[in-house]
Amino acid sequence: MNFYENTLINMQKAAKIMKLDQETLDVLSHPKRTLMATLPVRMDDGRMEYFEAFRVQHNDIRGPFKGGFRYLPEVNVDEIRALATEMTFKCAVAGIPYGGGKGGVKCNAKEMSEGELERVTRKYVQAMHKAIGPEVDIPAPDMYTTPQIMAWFMDEYSTLAGKYSPGVVTGKPIEVGGSLGRGTATAQGGAYVLEEYMKRNNLDPTQTKVVVQGFGNAGKYAAEILHGMGYIITGVSDSKGGLYNEKGLDPFCVTKAKEEKGSVTECSSGTKVTNEEILEKPCDVLVLAAMENQVTDKNMKNIKAKIIVELANGPTTAEADEHLAQKGVVLIPDILANAGGVTVSYFEWLQNQLQYYWPIEEVNSKLKRTMLESLDRVLDLQQTHKTTMRMAAYVSAFDRLEKAMQLRGSGAHIRCKLYH
Ligand code: NAD
Repeated sequence: MNFYENTLINMQKAAKIMKLDQETLDVLSHPKRTLMATLPVRMDDGRMEYFEAFRVQHNDIRGPFKGGFRYLPEVNVDEIRALATEMTFKCAVAGIPYGGGKGGVKCNAKEMSEGELERVTRKYVQAMHKAIGPEVDIPAPDMYTTPQIMAWFMDEYSTLAGKYSPGVVTGKPIEVGGSLGRGTATAQGGAYVLEEYMKRNNLDPTQTKVVVQGFGNAGKYAAEILHGMGYIITGVSDSKGGLYNEKGLDPFCVTKAKEEKGSVTECSSGTKVTNEEILEKPCDVLVLAAMENQVTDKNMKNIKAKIIVELANGPTTAEADEHLAQKGVVLIPDILANAGGVTVSYFEWLQNQLQYYWPIEEVNSKLKRTMLESLDRVLDLQQTHKTTMRMAAYVSAFDRLEKAMQLRGSGAHIRCKLYH
């Protein structure tokens, strides 16, 4: 089962729980628009390379399409569709006035030079610019796409649009219209949700062992923030492997090793383990912050964590999800746990529209309020429907999406269908 089929299964299960109108489910099971392009890019050695590029605009019933774009060799249209669909639900769970979109370029960013990345990015904007814009579709960072890439994106779009357009993309550096707190937002949002869940269940962070899979934007800051809150970080990993110490690691040391030597495994304060082993290590909380399809039917029985926080999108397959729920594992789902990223992206976009920038305290207090309100609503729906947090999050989103469709009238339904 691929990631997109997995997402559709989650939607169908939640629709059944809340007895959702079939037509609403149908509309949301079909992305509104899928854009594909080939990007011809001159490489440093003079060769021309041709990269496949995608942008999926899933649904805009609640506002402009919104979602990141990634640079990975494995990028494919099904994966981008799944991610775009999840964005529609995530924005609805968080109550942010956006729909869902996602993009990607099939390329190996890790092996490309600055110049090559800049040229790919500018070509990507040239290919997509007629279908995006501050009121239409607003991309953002995702795997292997950095604030610098967002700056080139904004610059190329502004040139093509003939006007300064910082609101076309979020996750920009502060100097060119970024928001304070955007870099840490995904991890910070997840930490607020986990903190609240722990408080409600009388759990003590200082007695809580945490393993974090993935050490990029989401995972690195998650390890650092949770460490700062007193949690014991016993394991971390990146694409090259894992590092484990049951007594606790210092994430700042791990960050230094990754920056200086290229991998968390180069840090001397723990023992090297494989990517498979790190997920199966004993811990209280497992933070999944790498990529999709990481907890599957192959390793679900060996997962020992009592709480899973999905900072990555789609890291748990439907089969594993069901198994973990039966085992009593509490899973804080992606469309709730990692909504901090898009929430601060929304704040960045608002600040761009206003050309007035908020202090970090304001960003974080608004982020906390959004995350806790979303969690509260999800936990209430979980009680009402006697279901998992994932299903309750989908129900929360469906409810808001359905109401928006009803209020906009049958035209909104029909417009969506015509675009299929
Ligand atoms: P990133 O490129 O900054 O980092 C990805 C990290 O995962 C890297 O450290 C990489 O080495 C590691 N990794 C890759 N494969 C791995 C594997 N098999 N095992 C362990 N580690 C592995 O990306 P990111 O922005 O941190 O995104 C990570 C996940 O979080 C993605 O699923 C993304 O969609 C999701 N997400 C990101 C944001 C955001 O604001 N950046 C927001 C919401 C969701």
